[in-house]
Parts: sequence; structure tokens; C-alpha cells
Amino acid sequence: EPYIPSFVEVNYIEGSNDPKWSSTNFPWTKKLEANNKKVFGNHSFRPNQREVINATMSGYDVFVLMPTGGGKSLTYQLPALICPGVTLVISPLVSLIQDQIMHLLQANIPAAYLSANMEWTEQQEILRELCSDYCKYKLLYVTPEKVAKHLKNGFVYSGLIYCQNGFIQWKIVSLVELMGWWHGAVDFESDVLLRNLESLNGRGLLARIVIDEAHCVSQWGHDFRPDYKLALTATATASVKEDVVQALGLVDCIVFRQSFNRPNLWYSVIPKTKKCLEDIDKFIRENHFDECGIIYCLSRMDCEKVAEKLQECGHKTAFYHGNMDAAQRSFVQRQWSKDEVNIICATVAFGMGINKPDVRFVIHHSLPKSIEGYHQECGRAGRDGQRASCVLYYSYSDYIRVKHMIIQGQAEQSPWTAGCSRNNMRNSDGILEKNTENLLRMVSYSENDVDCRRLLQLLHFGEKFDSGNCGNTCDNCSKIKTLVEKDVTESAKQLVELVKLTGQHFSSSHILEVYRGSLSQFVKRHRHESLSLHGAGKHLAKGEASRILRHLVIEDFLAEDVKKSDIYGSVSSVLKVNESKAYNLRSGEQRIVLRFPSSVKVSKQGKTEVTSAKGSLMSGKPSPPQSGSPAQPQPEVDLNL
Ligand code: ADP
Ligand code: MG
Ligand code: ZN
Repeated sequence: EPYIPSFVEVNYIEGSNDPKWSSTNFPWTKKLEANNKKVFGNHSFRPNQREVINATMSGYDVFVLMPTGGGKSLTYQLPALICPGVTLVISPLVSLIQDQIMHLLQANIPAAYLSANMEWTEQQEILRELCSDYCKYKLLYVTPEKVAKHLKNGFVYSGLIYCQNGFIQWKIVSLVELMGWWHGAVDFESDVLLRNLESLNGRGLLARIVIDEAHCVSQWGHDFRPDYKLALTATATASVKEDVVQALGLVDCIVFRQSFNRPNLWYSVIPKTKKCLEDIDKFIRENHFDECGIIYCLSRMDCEKVAEKLQECGHKTAFYHGNMDAAQRSFVQRQWSKDEVNIICATVAFGMGINKPDVRFVIHHSLPKSIEGYHQECGRAGRDGQRASCVLYYSYSDYIRVKHMIIQGQAEQSPWTAGCSRNNMRNSDGILEKNTENLLRMVSYSENDVDCRRLLQLLHFGEKFDSGNCGNTCDNCSKIKTLVEKDVTESAKQLVELVKLTGQHFSSSHILEVYRGSLSQFVKRHRHESLSLHGAGKHLAKGEASRILRHLVIEDFLAEDVKKSDIYGSVSSVLKVNESKAYNLRSGEQRIVLRFPSSVKVSKQGKTEVTSAKGSLMSGKPSPPQSGSPAQPQPEVDLNL
């Protein structure tokens, strides 16, 4: 019978600003610093590394948010090296594990991995080593399947849980509940690993457990607790965190957070035209010739076409996608690591665990599927801290393409979602809805030609960013803009009212669709609730309405909450009204004035409208998504085609 944990009240202890953890007076400090230099070749620690190591070595459960490339591996590899015993690392992807093991062995740290695909004799040899009194391994890697099959409850100790996906990065947990939760998945026939781990633990030699890509935990979890529902407050980011914490049954844990801002990455979005490939060639030639980069493409065919074209233009290029066999893929990856090719044209299947520090550009040849994905993919650039470019070529028709692929379930998965394998099999409405929502956010990001790119990305991770700190390193900040101030109070009021009328359980994209009068099936179904405001904003440009809505969220008139949207516990974000702030808006005490670029068409907006840019009044018909792509005529399509 599967073990279904109940909802636990989690006590998060903020660790980031606690000076205790940055102390250099821990008994292990000297050893830590010496090994960091000698074994790992690092001159210092990166932000939060020392703190996290100190907290886990003090025996606490820890939860850490650290961006890609932040150096998470070190925070468990270094403790593994200097603590007695073996550290168990659960990581969802064999290729990632292999990459890690290779690096560890190069540094003379004994490590091994167990996989079901290995020869039984080879597995036995590793297991025998685990039983021996002087087990040589410092780290043992396994895949989640392996553990889910083998572990049973009965362990009590602290472990390090670690993941990497752009939002949750890692954590250290107490494993009592974790084991309990896994209980349901124990495969009795092969519990050799379990017995070995128990034996290790009995001898005090199981140092800690690390779960790499811990976001996957929440997805394995859903298979085992199908009717598990709860409402949570925070952003999408926090929802995944909560998911994992709940799945693992953490009660107390220290949280380390770190900004997801990557100051050395320069962001821009460029309208995608028929000449896109020429543009890319020119961009690379002028800015990054002979430097290393990744071009993310939507389909396998695109990868090959783009690679071929750039090759013709004289760039050293290769492609990488899911249709190639493992040998071909690793060949390409090796060529790239050794700088035999500069540019990889790849689907999102490429990149996780890629450890190349000098990637100077990441180009998106088509629209990424979510802001998390985009942030993650861009994050592979500039790991050495030097300046790197992130360029996204956006066209509205790509949105339609991606959406279609998502609906058909054809979109190639990034390994970090593919690692959560069972998740991909499900195609319930909830997941589809969430994926579509994610994609729409990406569209709105791409079409925004006003707000700082960093601000927009970080907002998505629940982080507030002052665009003054961007230093003109994104296209929107560096644009010379003539801005027109515009009083949007009436629209703002209507949007707040609409959120309320529809019962505060819809996403921002749904609210926008209703507001602009969409007649999609989904909107129609819920139309009665919002009849008076359905279409009230149809004179507004899409970009305009969504800016007002986003402003309402940034300024806390509305809060973006998360809810479990289906029985599998998939999470989506919903808007809620913050009554105390909304009151001031309704009473007329507070007005909302936003600045719009004067080049952008400002539409006529009800009676109270005050200003608009000269000569650009639009009447009646709904305007196409405008702002991000001035060079390209946009089709007039309902966003919910
Ligand atoms: P993450 O898992 O957070 O994405 P990794 O652990 O793969 O990041 O580390 C990214 C890169 O940073 C690696 O090349 C690693 O060697 C390097 N690195 C990690 N910590 C340090 C440090 N303290 N000093 C210098 N380089 C470091
Ligand atoms: Mg990593
Ligand atoms: Zn900016």
C-alpha cells in the first residue's frame, strides 16, 4: 500500500543572512579551505558555498536556491571528501552522473555509480566495496529509480538534497519521512542496495544523502499520492520548492537563497524574420567570431538546417538532438568541449551538466517554452563570469508552432524534465494548462519592449529587481526611449474587479483573455462569471493590458498565488486580490500612471483615457501583439487559438 504523507507545516529558517554560517571558526574550516584549493583547484568560495557547507556539516537540513553555474556540486563534494563515510547522491540522469564521476576521478576522489544497465558483476563489486570496513568510495551515485526500488524506511539522519533546474537548487533534509515516502515504491526482489545502505548507516558511515535535480522528487511523488491537494502562496518557484519539501516531508530546514541575476549576461530579443539565419551569422561574425556558443532550435530539423547554413557561412558548427544515438551525441559533445567545433545547434536536450565555462553566446532561434527554461538555457553562457550574449529571435508564428508541439506532446524535453520521466507520460489537462501558461509568459516577455529583461525574468522567480542595477545590459534598458505617461487607473480597476468576479482562481493569461474579449472555449466556459467585464479591455493592445496587469502584481494590488490544478498536484499560478491595496484603487485615492514608449501604438481606452501617442489611436478592433516586434507584421489571432 503506498505511503501517502500528510501535509506538513514546514519551518523554514532563513540562513542567507545569518553570520553564523560564514564563520571561519568551525573545526573543519582549515581542512575545508585546504581541500578546496588542493583538490578542487579553487582559490576561494563562491557566494553561499561556505555557508551551505557549514550548515550541512553542522548536521542541519538545508534548502538552497542557487542559480545554474553557482557551484552547487562543490557544496556536497567537498563535505563528502572531508567527512568519514560515503555520500549517496541521487541524480536523475546517467550522462550527468558519468560527467560528475569523471571530474571526481580526475581530482582523485574515489566515486562510483550504480545503474541497472551495468553488468551484475560490476554492480556486485561496488556493493561489496560498500560492505567492506574500509570502503574506498567517498561518493556513490544512483538514479532515482534505483533508490525508489531499493530504499525502505528506517533511516534517521541528515542528508543533503540538491537539485538544479533554475528554480530550486538544493537542500539538505532529514530523511526519516523521505524513507517513509519511498516505502511504497520498494521493490522487494532487489533490496541489496538497501541492505548495504543500512549496513553503512549502522556503522555510521553513511555521511549524507544528496538529491540532485530535487525538483524531480515532486514529480515522482505525484505518482504515489494522487489525491494530494493543497493551496500554496507564492510564485511558481516557491510552489516547486513547497512541492519538494512536502514530498520529502521536511519539517525544519535552513534556507539559503541567492539571486538568480546573472550580471555578466546581456539579454536581447530580436524580431525574427525570414532573414533570421543571415542575422545570426552576422551577429556571431560581428560579436563572437570563432567563440563558443549554443543555438537552441525548436525541432530536430531546425537544428540540422541551422547548423548547415552556419557551416556554409564559415562557422565551425555541429548539431545535437534526440534523434541521434548516444554515441553520436557524446561525440558531438566531446568535439565541442575540445573546441573542435564552436557552435552547437541543439534542441533543449543539450546542455544539462554542460560544464564549459567559456560559452560566449546562447542564441534562441525560436521561442523557449517557459521563462524557467529560457533562464536555464541562457545560464549556460558565461559561467566564467566574463561577458556573454543571450539573444532570442522572436516571432509570433513560433508561438503557434511551439503551442502546437506542446499540445501534440511532440516538444523535445530538456533533460531535467526528461529525468522526471514519469511526468512526461501524463498529459492531463492540468499539465497542458500549465505548459500553455508558461509559454504565454514567454510570449509576453518577448513582446515586452519596455521593461528591463532582468526585472522580468527575476520577477518570475519571485525576486524583485531594481532595473537601475541593470546598467543597460539588456535591450530594453539600453534603448533610447521617448516615453509617454499614461493614466491607466480605470483599466487597473477593471482588471482587479475581473480577478475578483471570476472567483480568484485564474491565471493572468486567462484574465487577460477575458478582459480582451477572447472567445476561446475555456473563456466561454467561464464567461458567465465575468459577463460585465468580458471584453472591457478589447480596445487595449495585448502588450498594454498585460503590462498593467503585471504592474498590479509588482505593486502588490494583486498577488500571484499557486494552486494545485489537478489531482496529480500539478501547480499553476492564480491571481488573488490584495484587498487593502485594492481599496485605495477603487476609492480613487490611488492613481496608476505607467510610461509607454511613444513609438508603440497606444490605444483608446474608455472614457477616462487621458493621453495617447500622436497619430496612433486605434479603434474598435483588437490589436495584435505589438510591442516586441516592430519590424514584423503580426497576424491577428486570438491568443487561445
Ligand atoms: P551548478 O551545479 O551550480 O550549476 P557546478 O557545481 O557545475 O554548478 O559548478 C560550475 C562551475 O563552477 C564548475 O566548473 C566548477 O568547477 C566551478 N566552481 C565551483 N565552485 C567554484 C569556486 N569556489 N571557485 C571557482 N570555480 C568554482
Ligand atoms: Mg550542477
Ligand atoms: Zn535591463
